[in-house]
Amino acid sequence: MANYGKTALVINCGSSSVKFAILNPTDGHVFLNGLAEALGLPSAEISWKFAGGEKEKATIAGADHSKALEYLVKNILSKDPELLSSIVCCGHRIVQGGDIYSEPTLVNDEVEANIAKVIPFAPLHNPAHLLGIKAARASFPSIPHVTVFDTAFHMTMPPRAYRFAIPKEYYTDLHLRRYGAHGTSHQFLAIETAKALGKKTEEVNVITCHLGNGASVSACKGGKCMDTSMGLTPLDGLVMGTRSGSLDPSVVFFLCDRLKMTPEEVKDVLNKKSGVLALSGISSDMRPVEQEYHNGNEDCKLALDVYAYRLAKFIASYYIPLGRVDAITFAGGIGENSNLVRRLTCQLLKEPFGIELDDALNDKALGFKGFEGGVISTPASKVKVLMIPTNEELMIARAAMSFV
Ligand code: ADP
Repeated sequence: MANYGKTALVINCGSSSVKFAILNPTDGHVFLNGLAEALGLPSAEISWKFAGGEKEKATIAGADHSKALEYLVKNILSKDPELLSSIVCCGHRIVQGGDIYSEPTLVNDEVEANIAKVIPFAPLHNPAHLLGIKAARASFPSIPHVTVFDTAFHMTMPPRAYRFAIPKEYYTDLHLRRYGAHGTSHQFLAIETAKALGKKTEEVNVITCHLGNGASVSACKGGKCMDTSMGLTPLDGLVMGTRSGSLDPSVVFFLCDRLKMTPEEVKDVLNKKSGVLALSGISSDMRPVEQEYHNGNEDCKLALDVYAYRLAKFIASYYIPLGRVDAITFAGGIGENSNLVRRLTCQLLKEPFGIELDDALNDKALGFKGFEGGVISTPASKVKVLMIPTNEELMIARAAMSFV
């Protein structure tokens, strides 16, 4: 008989998807994970994998979030009742908590109302999260449900980092400010970087680079966020797969004036048709772009050049809030796997900051090859550089378990 101990269910809802995982919050061991997608459509499908098992899938035509979770309980977990009964808490990933939440929070009606209140800042995500919370509370009524906000970690930023230099009433009345994103990942990386260096979280100042399809970089002082590159929304900051990152706001007015584009059309271009995709002219996916970079494609060279330059400039600017920088940590699909992005970025940081990658360690540090993470800089480097595979699910599971 399997002995699962106490496990946490972690749920991440998108507008037409539910990602789920059941894991041990102490060691991160995943017993089951899966994804329900195309929800609401005839092609809705759920796929899952028990630890050590094969991937399985089933059609759940027309199912919504609630039917998908019902399927999880009645058709998937019914195959392993002990795993079902090991679940003692449920953690929900929430993209936007506004300036209301700075900590994981036990779900109640007020929390649901507040998540609804900040929908204007996350119009695609927060409504889906609410559906997920309602569905999960119905399917798992007797365990604590805990919301873990992507924005919470950034709430320690001082006003000088989060305020925009625009009329005050836009902040006081409309709450326009920098909220950041990927906070759960940045916090995980700040904690794990300190562990990897054999220090306490409070002792270490680290610049965490979460580089996935979306990408952001944070200045973490003793485990607290001092600044981050994403702004009011996840459009700001670094160059991303399809997002422009920071640009002169005049670009928007110019496109509206000259091409008679509507604000909605410009928003679509900046979110979905820009970034690495636009610069490379090939793909938003870094892999083919890197391949063409090595083949000498000029557009792909420019794409990687802009990508690394922007990232290095953000890293350099975070010496201001941190004063002393102990480490720079790379994570996310690109941060974990692209030795090229890490190399190009650190090359720019070598002369001004004495940062020096160990080429052999950098080439070895590939997340998909099972490298567990660690230092990839030379002993002489003035700042340690690390690659650490991020694990937002584990962070959410830990947060949920703290309420048991
Ligand atoms: P998301 O933000 O959607 O969670 P991920 O963290 O999975 O994204 O990162 C996706 C990105 O990681 C893609 O651009 C992909 O090309 C990149 N990536 C994955 N593997 C590699 C690799 N071996 N080399 C370079 N880039 C990679």
